[in-house]
Amino acid sequence: MSVNSPRGTADIYGEYIKYRDFIISTARELFDIFNFEEIITPAFEYTEVFSRSIGESTDIVHKEMYTFPDRKGRSLTLRPEGTAPVVRSVVEKKMLVPENIPLKLFYIGNMFRYERPQKGRMREFWQLGVEALGSSSTILDAEIIWLLNEIFKRLGFKNLILKINTIGCSKCRNNYIKIFREYIEPRLDYLCADCQRRFKVNPLRIFDCKIKSCKKIVSEGPKIKDYLCKNCSKHFKELISIISDLSINYTISDDLVRGFDYYTGIIFEMASNDLNSAQNALGGGGRYDNLLADFNGPDMPAVGFAVGMDRTALLMRQLGIKYTDIRNKPKSYIISLSEDAGPYIIDVLKQLRNSNIACDIDYSTSGIGSALKKAGKKGFSTALIIGEEEVKNDIITVKDLKSFKQYKVKKNNLVKEVLRITGADQNE
Ligand code: AMP
Repeated sequence: MSVNSPRGTADIYGEYIKYRDFIISTARELFDIFNFEEIITPAFEYTEVFSRSIGESTDIVHKEMYTFPDRKGRSLTLRPEGTAPVVRSVVEKKMLVPENIPLKLFYIGNMFRYERPQKGRMREFWQLGVEALGSSSTILDAEIIWLLNEIFKRLGFKNLILKINTIGCSKCRNNYIKIFREYIEPRLDYLCADCQRRFKVNPLRIFDCKIKSCKKIVSEGPKIKDYLCKNCSKHFKELISIISDLSINYTISDDLVRGFDYYTGIIFEMASNDLNSAQNALGGGGRYDNLLADFNGPDMPAVGFAVGMDRTALLMRQLGIKYTDIRNKPKSYIISLSEDAGPYIIDVLKQLRNSNIACDIDYSTSGIGSALKKAGKKGFSTALIIGEEEVKNDIITVKDLKSFKQYKVKKNNLVKEVLRITGADQNE
């Protein structure tokens, strides 16, 4: 049988697992510091969870969802994003009780969109994200943007652009849509077929188009910032002032709208020019003040973001940003030079593993030289060499794979000596 993975999916292994671990551990540490708790929702939901919230006019719902009937004929959809499932769960499980507000949740999960695969764009990809539900505070908006910015800062990125815009409340947005519609109507023939459809269902979605000629028409049109009501304008100014105080580098981006219908007010995106393609966004989010009520939950505001983990890892690798190996603890590779050392080796493994020191055995018979090479390449910190002499004298030869210095240590002192030689005793 010869079978390949489906188009647009990836097997994640080797170096990418290390990037992924680093991204997740960095984010988890910050989620903790910012006081977010984890939520895990199913990988599929009833289709209406997405179609109603993300919006029928969006590309995602219109043409990118993996939707299928189950055996009883109910329509299910593999999740294309994480916000709608979290809101569905929060409402269903009645989590928004007063002592929980604002409810601050984070998730890490795989998402599915039937997109045209290319570099940084897949059909199955991974996102981590946060949702803060129950407060409309501008400080909360600033905290969310701060957290997004801090994740990328701690990952080691230097030249990212945080774009911010607002699409106003329903009052100013509806007024703006009217004016935008009037601007587009005489130019409709110059827009692509998708945009002509978007014009009918929700003209704001024309902003999502990646086609140059459509983009140009949009960029020359009226801007929502000129039609904001007093409240929205005040909220936006306040937010900008707080994130400036936080020394976050940002740029106000007039034509940022983001491809979901549920957004209201503040929206933002973290982008990189280094990605050098239409897929230059690493993450984004915004306010969605009506979504809880749309799910028949309490009429409460909310804000959140999602980060694309695959694209982030891809860019880190491209820019040569190193991950910190979170498993950077002593790890020993046991090389046996004696055929009868079995029980001796088991005793060594037992000592190390009972003390939570990672270790493995060299099962190859290709000689000490190639075993040492392999140990270095695979990230082991020490090689423990066991030959007849070692067994006879109850000792181990420990080779530090960084300095290549060699030590003979008593078997009973092995754990202490490995910690000392690798410097791990200093980290305790
Ligand atoms: P969105 O949920 O569309 O706001 O996307 C948030 C982030 O998820 C983006 O900035 C990307 O980093 C990532 N992302 C979205 N769609 C894809 C995809 N098809 N393939 C890989 N990453 C994606």
